[in-house]
Amino acid sequence: MQQRSDIAETLAGDPAERERMDNVRPLDWRNPQPAQRYDLVIVGAGTTGLVAARTAATQGAKVALIERHLLGGTCLNIGCVPSKAIIRTSRLYAEMRNADQYGARIPADIRVDFAAVMQRVRGVRARISRADSARRLTAVGVDVFFGRASFTGTDALNVEGATLRFKKALIATGARPNTPSIPGLVEAGYLTNENAFDLTEPPHRLLVIGGGPLGCEMAQAFCRFGVQTVIVQKRPLFLAREERDAAQILSDAFARDGIEVRLNTRAVNVRVQGGQKIVDLVSDDYHSTVSVDAILTGTGRVPNIDGLNLEAAGIHHDSGRGVHVDDFLRTSNRRVYAAGDVCLRYKLNDTADASARIAVQNALFAGRQRLSALTIPWCTYTDPEIAHVGLYVRQARERNIPVETFTIPMHDVDRAIADDEEVGFVKINVKEGTDRILGATIVARHAGEMISEITLAIVAGVGLRKLAQVIHAYPTQAEAIKKAADAYTRTRLPARAQRLATAWPRWLRRR
Ligand SMILES: Cc1cc2nc3c(=O)[nH]c(=O)nc-3n(C[C@H](O)[C@H](O)[C@H](O)COP(=O)(O)OP(=O)(O)OC[C@H]3O[C@@H](n4cnc5c(N)ncnc54)[C@H](O)[C@@H]3O)c2cc1C
Repeated sequence: MQQRSDIAETLAGDPAERERMDNVRPLDWRNPQPAQRYDLVIVGAGTTGLVAARTAATQGAKVALIERHLLGGTCLNIGCVPSKAIIRTSRLYAEMRNADQYGARIPADIRVDFAAVMQRVRGVRARISRADSARRLTAVGVDVFFGRASFTGTDALNVEGATLRFKKALIATGARPNTPSIPGLVEAGYLTNENAFDLTEPPHRLLVIGGGPLGCEMAQAFCRFGVQTVIVQKRPLFLAREERDAAQILSDAFARDGIEVRLNTRAVNVRVQGGQKIVDLVSDDYHSTVSVDAILTGTGRVPNIDGLNLEAAGIHHDSGRGVHVDDFLRTSNRRVYAAGDVCLRYKLNDTADASARIAVQNALFAGRQRLSALTIPWCTYTDPEIAHVGLYVRQARERNIPVETFTIPMHDVDRAIADDEEVGFVKINVKEGTDRILGATIVARHAGEMISEITLAIVAGVGLRKLAQVIHAYPTQAEAIKKAADAYTRTRLPARAQRLATAWPRWLRRR
């Protein structure tokens, strides 16, 4: 993790970094004199902590926010923001290489300017950091403390020698990359999301260990920058949580990009030889070796609970799940709540935000909001993107809910054809015999944008029949959703009308 001295070094060089640091860790910052007692003390100023601090302070609560490193936490500094910025440029390079497909002629020899790519990433991060700045927080009355927090009792925390007493506290300390236990890996050195965005030049050859969202997004991005990329995934397909057809499409897309895909494969040993990292791989009984310049791991995230002295506050926890919470986000200490990556299974920014709001309402305003009531969408920002909300078919079956599925391939959608973005599908699951939407998976270039319509429908209790009545601007890729709704509606027509509904558009086209 970047320390103060590194920060100062970065500051000297780059205006964008100077702006970011000025927002998220001002060098001349002095911690305020603590108030006698706070309504809410929040530990950790990532998405969860920032949302909670602003929500509570703007509702009149006296709030302290403690951050040991950088305001904005993972998402702004080393997560969603830099990864999405890098992915955008990598897509552009991929499109340039495929320019012929769009009838555009550009020189075959495209030079990747990686330094410029990273400069853009830093610029994006600096702009977005304005919203997370210390100034914005103090402007709404939040007392911001920099330093490492630890509990000293059931109603007090220590930061940099100062004691902060609280009526309620919120643990929002997030998570960090899991280090896979592969002999030799630590000695050889490896990249994670904590240092990959500091690269100034790309490796020539890269091994990505882990086929979850982070590993998949980064493998594709680096490959598109011309890096020879190998990805190993110990399971038979990528993105273990997603439906198999979606994950298969991703494997195919990786192969088209030129990524060397090794499924059912584990990295078992790393050694350094002649400046190269030699990695031993095992796939069932087959042993092989790859030689690379860099290794990037994306093998899950572990909750940050070390050093919080949770025992002093009587807060139950374990290293896997992190802080234990109930459905109201209460810990075993009735004064203390937790939200975001430190306690939740779904380590997502949208969930961090939503859980922060729940925790504030329940802690300060006698709310009874439940985590389980949330409808949480997510998206993996590969190309194509893979987005999901609600129940998968297998989950519905496990709960004995009969499911009917309506699938529209993107190659049946005019806009996807016009855009040459025909890979993927929209699949909507409803409870059999009804139009109640249980869940949906979208695999498409802009699946992350498209999933919001289904999320809204689920939250608002809008059925698939109603979606069939929604006029979608033509031509848009979101029309795939309307087509799925139309497919549902057709199944509800009597047999004769069904035949007519299928034949009518064909007859019209022939006229
Ligand atoms: C590469 C990557 C890409 C991602 N992309 C996406 C995406 O596209 N979409 C999405 O929804 N999610 C994405 N995520 C996940 C998302 O970033 C996290 O879910 C979200 O940032 C969690 O927020 P948080 O506030 O709970 O934790 P964090 O953002 O990790 O914040 C916790 C903060 O607590 C501080 N802290 C820890 N211990 C202490 C202590 N003792 N005292 C004081 N401060 C402390 C830390 O320094 C940190 O700033 C991505 C994650 C990664 C790693």
